[in-house]
Amino acid sequence: MEHIRNIAIIAHVDHGKTTLVDCLLKQSGTFRANEAKASEERIMDMMDLEREKGITIRAKNAAFRYKRYRVNLVDTPGHADFGGEVERIMNMIDGVLLVVDAAEGPQAQTRFVLRKALEAGAKPIVVINKIDRENARPQWALDQVFDLFLSLNATDEQLDFPYVFCSAKAGYARLRLEDTNETMEPLFEAIVRHIPPPRARAGEGFQLLVANLDYSDYLGRIALGKVMAGRIRVGEPAVCLHGDGRVTEGRVTALFHYEGLKQVQIEEAPAGDIVGVCGFETVAIGETLADRPERGALPFIPVDPPTIQMD
Ligand code: GDP
Repeated sequence: MEHIRNIAIIAHVDHGKTTLVDCLLKQSGTFRANEAKASEERIMDMMDLEREKGITIRAKNAAFRYKRYRVNLVDTPGHADFGGEVERIMNMIDGVLLVVDAAEGPQAQTRFVLRKALEAGAKPIVVINKIDRENARPQWALDQVFDLFLSLNATDEQLDFPYVFCSAKAGYARLRLEDTNETMEPLFEAIVRHIPPPRARAGEGFQLLVANLDYSDYLGRIALGKVMAGRIRVGEPAVCLHGDGRVTEGRVTALFHYEGLKQVQIEEAPAGDIVGVCGFETVAIGETLADRPERGALPFIPVDPPTIQMD
């Protein structure tokens, strides 16, 4: 079974989320720079398409490998008024990297998204970023974050958060300010050690909760989401359980996951992984794909025990 970690990176605007993602992808070595550039251009294309069609496409999900682990980075919307969307995202992940600028400390959006993450029970790792800045106050920023956790009624376990001091720009993360290592290693280690593997329902039949939509000129609509149970395979017949109670039949015509910023076609994926599924042209966000109607008839959010550990 593949070792999977599903996380989101959350931050106030400009605190360095994009820079950190780039840095993690680069240092994990899952993709080459020219590939990344090509896929970024593709993402821009899709954003134009989004405007044209008036549908929501957010293709900023990514994934990298570290040791034996596959780490999925689930994108979070940058704006604060995203209603149910944030719940769907939190439902896919088991932990967050909370990025905070070492000079500015936590800001309004830090508070908003952290509250959602804590409510969803996600384990945060605090990343005090930009410690290379001249006016950086890393220890102060960390204390501010601790106070923020307190004010949000974090549990004792959440309050005991792991943290790293980091310069996403220079490409290093350090456990102590006096350390001198020059890589992100401590952050990679924190992710695989402190964030739990995904929980999933036991059983053979697959269920996938659609958290977002993507689009391909060749393959049509792509439903993005986490495999909540079972194993999904290309060619498999399946149903879409729509929000209004209708059930439509279809077939998994193609399957993707991310490698770096690129969507790569795969044949099958295990429970816990985050994938894109083609073959369901009328599926909408919040709906369920399942191999059988009765499976999807179960209430889907949140995933209830019995659970199996994916490791
Ligand atoms: P986002 O809005 O959270 O995605 O932030 P970006 O990653 O776009 O970063 C915002 C600005 O902060 C950019 O100008 C980055 O170059 C800069 N930045 C990001 N990380 C660091 C860092 O570790 N050190 C310094 N000095 N600047 C950084």
